[in-house]
Amino acid sequence: MSGNRFADTFRHKGLRKQLAETVRKKGITDENVISAIEAIPRHWFFDSSFLEFAYEDKAFPIGSGQTISQPYTVAFQTQLLQVKRGDKILEVGTGSGYQASILYQMGAKVFSIERQRALYQKAKEMLPAAGFLVKTFFGDGYKGLPTFGPFDKIIVTAGAPFIPEALIEQLKPGGIMVIPVDDDDGSQTMTTVEKAADGSYEISQHGKFRFVPLLGDKVHD
Ligand code: SAM
Repeated sequence: MSGNRFADTFRHKGLRKQLAETVRKKGITDENVISAIEAIPRHWFFDSSFLEFAYEDKAFPIGSGQTISQPYTVAFQTQLLQVKRGDKILEVGTGSGYQASILYQMGAKVFSIERQRALYQKAKEMLPAAGFLVKTFFGDGYKGLPTFGPFDKIIVTAGAPFIPEALIEQLKPGGIMVIPVDDDDGSQTMTTVEKAADGSYEISQHGKFRFVPLLGDKVHD
């Protein structure tokens, strides 16, 4: 690795192509999602001493007790969102900023909120420096971003004990929310909420995953 923080070598690009093929083999069919996985240098979201883990299809610690999600999980949630260019998307749980960058790469206007101050600060500096123009916020994702909503899509990237009412309210008619909802066994069921034009909504389930928890109440300084 050269001293350049945002180096992207042929080797990185080759590993990314393999990662894109891995998520395809695991069942991802949205070509725009697969292209975004191939385009975004995941190693930029890792500390330099852990670069060799960047292109494994695994979650990895990012500090503050949090993780960058597994690429397959990022691809699966993104596919469920049915992202279109120009979509206004709220992400709850900025973490490393990787998921937000995938959405930005797909042409979305991304608003991302994080409750851990250290992670928020890091993503706020890193994302624009890398050229990913994501709007980042420090705060409690249970409340969403009422002054910036409503949103075409909402993605929650931590395990939620329930679907927050404020987030359903901030979804536009015709909008989709993707949220992992806690089960009794410590895992989560990937859940979508699709809001109809009349404001009613339909909930569907899409299999089991495992996330760090969506934490309530206080933000963490
Ligand atoms: N999307 C991230 C990425 O691409 O790296 C991974 C997110 S990590 C699995 C979950 C994140 O949700 C953590 O960074 C955690 O601090 C954050 N989080 C937990 N509870 C939250 C809340 N109430 N509001 C906002 N963020 C929250």
